Amino acid sequence: MAGEPQSDCLFCKIVSGDIPATIVRESETTVAFRDINPQAPTHVLVIPKVHYPDAASLAAAEPQIAADVLTEAGAVAADEKIDSTGYRVIFNTGSGVGQTVFHAHAHVLGGRGLQWPPG
Ligand code: AMP
Ligand code: ZN
Repeated sequence: MAGEPQSDCLFCKIVSGDIPATIVRESETTVAFRDINPQAPTHVLVIPKVHYPDAASLAAAEPQIAADVLTEAGAVAADEKIDSTGYRVIFNTGSGVGQTVFHAHAHVLGGRGLQWPPG
């Protein structure tokens, strides 16, 4: 069923606690944890607890939870004190642009200057 945990999904296993992560925030619908391979001084992933393969399919099925992911991304930025210096929220969508985990997730990046346009 749509949104149900997938047995082969890394991030579903982080939600269930089967795989450890450095969790920095949790809400009823989301979990935020540090990226294992950080690309900036702050690099946190915010994921919905429900499984959808990417941000657009999450937003189509569960718009309130998609909004929760964005709200939590902003809360992470405030917690990490990068809201004043600026930060970037990224949803890689598709293997062609580097998506490797097909459970929707927002990257929250900050704490250094970030190039625009991105590579
Ligand atoms: P993406 O390439 O957009 O699909 O992002 C997946 C992200 O998950 C990458 O930045 C990885 O470094 C990160 N990642 C993979 N495995 C783990 C893990 N066990 N804990 C935390 N982050 C992870
Ligand atoms: Zn999943």
